[in-house]
Amino acid sequence: MAARSRSKTGKAKRSLRRPARNPILSPTSPEAQREALADRLAQETAAAFQAVLHPQDGPADHPVKGLHDAVREAYDVCTAMLDELQLDPPLACKRGCIHCCYNQVALTEPEALFLGLHLLGTRSPERLRELADKAQALADRLKGKSWQEIGMLRHELPCLFLEDGGCSIYPARPLACRGWNSVDEKMCLLSNLSGDALTPIENHPIVREIADGIQSGLLRGSSELGLEAGYLLMARATALLLTGDPEQGVMDTTAEWLDGKPFFGRKARW
Ligand code: SF4
Repeated sequence: MAARSRSKTGKAKRSLRRPARNPILSPTSPEAQREALADRLAQETAAAFQAVLHPQDGPADHPVKGLHDAVREAYDVCTAMLDELQLDPPLACKRGCIHCCYNQVALTEPEALFLGLHLLGTRSPERLRELADKAQALADRLKGKSWQEIGMLRHELPCLFLEDGGCSIYPARPLACRGWNSVDEKMCLLSNLSGDALTPIENHPIVREIADGIQSGLLRGSSELGLEAGYLLMARATALLLTGDPEQGVMDTTAEWLDGKPFFGRKARW
């Protein structure tokens, strides 16, 4: 029976990726153990997120920095946990492999804002303007399409941040990218060559669930603080963040979201 998985667009779907054997899980109930791990990670991430943004001794002095640090910490936890896994068969994924980057990625509000801050810190004003145009063109192309339609078109739509044969935001890539995995590069290549979005790709569920658990924690932590929590399409989020003056756009969107306003509050429809 096929397992369920989450696509990079973040929508649950019938899994196209068969689970591979994983020796660190109990042979009796691996699904239950993974679920418990994901739930524990969600709880811990949510608690850590809230502790940074709303410390017990009063409001955070620097909420924007707090948001940045909380997401950085969540990503570091994810990296450390994935690095500790001893997977059999090993992952085929390695830095520089880009088959799964022919995709549109979903991310949470805290991740989108972290990405915006990362872009401000790593790109010149000119490169930000170029990126803003590229993001807007992609957002226009996706206009009116459902998550499912976008998923089915994935081979035609490389990620906005796939540049010069690699991920140009690697340290800030979303959790969806961190959890997406494969044990056979040939399957990923075939999927792209055939253009069939339903191509089965064997993978390790534990990797996805660690990333999913941490992502759920960011959503839970946001929601429990009364902040909007959901999935955003990275192309739309980037286009909005960089509209007009990119620095102002990122800082304003971050401040507004931290103030309880919707992420796309300044742009009602896509
Ligand atoms: S953010 Fe980076 S890793 Fe994720 S799909 Fe885009 S290029 Fe690939």
